[in-house]
Amino acid sequence: MQKTYKYRLYPSKAQEVKLTAALEVCRVLYNSCLLDRKNYFESTGKGLSRIRQQEILTADKKRVLLLNEVHSQVLQDVLFRIERAYKGFFRRLAEKQGKAGYPRLKNEGRYDSITYPQEPGFKIEAGKLRLSKIGQIKMRMHRDIVGQVKTCTIRRDGNHWYACFSVGYEPEKRLIPDKAVGIDVGLKSFAVLSNGTEIANPRYLRKTEKKLKQTQRSLSQKKKGGSNRRKTRQIVTSLHRKVRNQRLDFHHKESRKIVNSFGLIAVEDLKIGNMMQNHHLSKSITDAGWGGFLNILASKAEEAGCRFEKVDPRNTSVRCSRCGESVPKTLAVRIHQCPLCGLVLDRDHNAALNILQRATAGTAESYAWGEVAHSGPSLNQEAMSLAAW
Ligand SMILES: [Zn+2]
Repeated sequence: MQKTYKYRLYPSKAQEVKLTAALEVCRVLYNSCLLDRKNYFESTGKGLSRIRQQEILTADKKRVLLLNEVHSQVLQDVLFRIERAYKGFFRRLAEKQGKAGYPRLKNEGRYDSITYPQEPGFKIEAGKLRLSKIGQIKMRMHRDIVGQVKTCTIRRDGNHWYACFSVGYEPEKRLIPDKAVGIDVGLKSFAVLSNGTEIANPRYLRKTEKKLKQTQRSLSQKKKGGSNRRKTRQIVTSLHRKVRNQRLDFHHKESRKIVNSFGLIAVEDLKIGNMMQNHHLSKSITDAGWGGFLNILASKAEEAGCRFEKVDPRNTSVRCSRCGESVPKTLAVRIHQCPLCGLVLDRDHNAALNILQRATAGTAESYAWGEVAHSGPSLNQEAMSLAAW
């Protein structure tokens, strides 16, 4: 299993200059390798391999002294990135039958990370980070690393710097909870669970988002090229980062709670949903947060040995979760009210129950899942022993 630990770095002025220079050297290398591949293909009809590019790089290092200012493995990693970009491009090409974006050149300031693929190119020493060709950088390790450190990626985010360590570890064995849950993207809250629990967007996040919106508005009113505009833009950048970090933190905490409490987690497959209906189009507004949350949830579920199901989202908000009757409602209608069986429920709660039922439908235990899900959050042991997983 792999895990990433991210820590804030506090480089000195001199170190920051070196880091920025390393980013720039790698950006130029990235672009020139991309162009080499393109030109080579256009003139010969063949692909240029990473091995060949490595040979070219070795030769270039004798002529271009600037390349020697950057740790050699960091440069090699750039070639791996190019290779991955190309593989991805060809894969998309095959999938989409001819329509895929060609790997792009990186503009100035648009290349934000470099990777040290192994020690001793980087080394954690007494809570500080030693980087080859850069020096020993102050680092805030707010939590301990558990496992074997593999790679170290240095990331620039506005005027902040971070070290991201990829760590291999053995997952802990644990008892998987015998409860199932369906999760619906809330229209007014962040999400609603099939047991009725509502997960609200935290107040601190809403506050930063509001401030970001205000600052963005004021940015658009500032004169172009003026110093006020530049200052405001810096504030916008740092607020963006703050929102991103707060949201990430929130996603981690909420997905941890869910994975700790449930053995089967069902969500909507929004890839299908986006195209399907109005209800889901409106959800795409909240997508930015939701997609990231699902990724974190899926990886935590896998890590914990939970079953993670993505279900077809069609009609989850329309269908009555008790009797199956179709009960159409506009977005403004918050309550599901079934004329057939009389069920009255919050609309998102009803949708979450449908999602849960869909994840277990078509199997012998589906009836039990549905029934028990209605009467309470917990599944009884009998239903669990029926479940074939
Ligand atoms: Zn009904």
